[in-house]
Parts: sequence; structure tokens; C-alpha cells
Amino acid sequence: MSYGGYVKCNCYEEGKTSEPPFKEFVRIIPDYGPALKYPEHIKNTSRMNTKFMDWRSSACPHSDFNYASIRFNDFPGFESVYEYIAEKKYDEDFECVNLFPILYQYLPDGYEDKIPIIDVLPFMNELLAFQEITEKRKFVVFNGMNPDKIIAVTNYGYPRVIAYDAKYAGGIDDNGFFITKAFHGHIDRNYEMNIVFRSSFFSQSTHLVYGFVITDISTGKEFITSFHILQQIMEGNIPDIKKKLIFRVSIEEIPITRLCRDFIDSLIKLCAASLETGNPVVWY
Ligand SMILES: [Zn+2]
Repeated sequence: MSYGGYVKCNCYEEGKTSEPPFKEFVRIIPDYGPALKYPEHIKNTSRMNTKFMDWRSSACPHSDFNYASIRFNDFPGFESVYEYIAEKKYDEDFECVNLFPILYQYLPDGYEDKIPIIDVLPFMNELLAFQEITEKRKFVVFNGMNPDKIIAVTNYGYPRVIAYDAKYAGGIDDNGFFITKAFHGHIDRNYEMNIVFRSSFFSQSTHLVYGFVITDISTGKEFITSFHILQQIMEGNIPDIKKKLIFRVSIEEIPITRLCRDFIDSLIKLCAASLETGNPVVWY
């Protein structure tokens, strides 16, 4: 699975950066920008690399030469876009009539690594068409205290793991939030047989010894975990790890486009950046 996308700027090629260190070794790598390539006799390059990477991060107004970039993790609904588009590939006679052939081809799925410049405009047009879909679907929605800010979501009928440690996984399914025995986040079809905690309205507080205690608010039933529920979602950058949090899970029928509006908007901005710079949209 890919993690995000970016479009590189042209500042180095246009001479708009500060002077790079070790300029004599600088080479341009497509879809990456300036990099150091040393002759063979130069050893112990790690200090030079650090200095060069520091320069890269602030050489022009675009950090690391990213004219525009997005991280998929910031958009809880993004997987639903993929699922919807993949599903629309065939009609009832199993004729291939994908409504969004360019999205289907280039949305990152781990295989395509970029959108070539020639296909960026058609890709953007399909995104605009996708925004017009009014169809509603049933989703399992995971919220914190702010009900407008969706933390995680999954299609009805599709359990999804959102946090885990070596032995247990926490996730959402049609019946709410669950914690089940798992192996490093992997659950199987029979995960329901190994459920140790279930709730649709619960709190998480820190536990003095083991990490966190998760409590069902109506029954008071507790489960102690070593994982913070937001640990994987926030990639470890939890602002106040000791704060008590309240979560709820609900089944909601909402337009697919509402769920992924921010994701589609960000993709459109990436495409616009690509058309502006003449550089492809690259998935990483
Ligand atoms: Zn730049």
C-alpha cells in the first residue's frame, strides 16, 4: 500500500535555490530532484549526506522540493474511494465498463508508481466527475468527541483493524469497536470467536503499569492494552498521550463523496500542481 503522493518543484533546475553543499557531486534524479553521487574514492559519506539533506529540506520555499504533497493517512475515507472505483469495473453482464478508467488505472495500489503527465488532466477530470456522485452507502464510522471529525471508517460488512500490538488488535466492524486476539494486527475470518472486548461507546485512559485501559461506558467493563487506539492512525505522533479520550462507533448511511471529499480535493490540488510544474504526480 502506498502512503502518499507528491509533485516536485523545479526550483533547482531554474537556479532558484541556495547553493548546495558539495555541488560538484550533485546529480538530478527524476521524480526526486538533486542528489549526491560520489566518485568511488570518496568513503564515509554519512556526514556529507546529512549536510546535503539539511540543505534539501530548506533550499527553496518547498520543503524537500515538494511543490505539493499529501499523506493518505490524513484521510480516513480514502480506502472507500478505491473500493468504490474497483467495484464499478463491471456492469451486470460483466462487460468491462469502468466509469472511472483513469482513476482505476492510476490511483495508487502499490503497482502504479506515478501518473504520467499526459494522463494528469484526464485523471483530474474523473476526480471532478467522482465528486458529483450522490449515491449513499452504509459505513461503520469511528469518532472521538467531535462527531464531525471521522477518525476511521470502514464499509459495512468489512471489519478493519485500527490499532494493535503483538498479541491483540483493536478494530471496527458492523457491531462496533472490538479487541480480538491477533498476530501483529492480522485478523482472520474467525476473529469474532477471539473477541475479548466489545463496545460502541467507550473511554481510554492511561494505566499506571501496562499502558492503557479501555472502558465500556455503559457497563464499566475494562480491558488493558499496551496500544494507544490512535497510535497507528497518528503514526505515533499523539499530542497528549495521557489525556482521557472518549470514542464512539456508529453505522451511518452517508454519501460516499462526503466521506472522501477532503481526499478528492487534495488529489485535485496535486493534479493542479503537476500541470503547473510539468512534473508527474508520484506515489510513494
Ligand atoms: Zn521549490
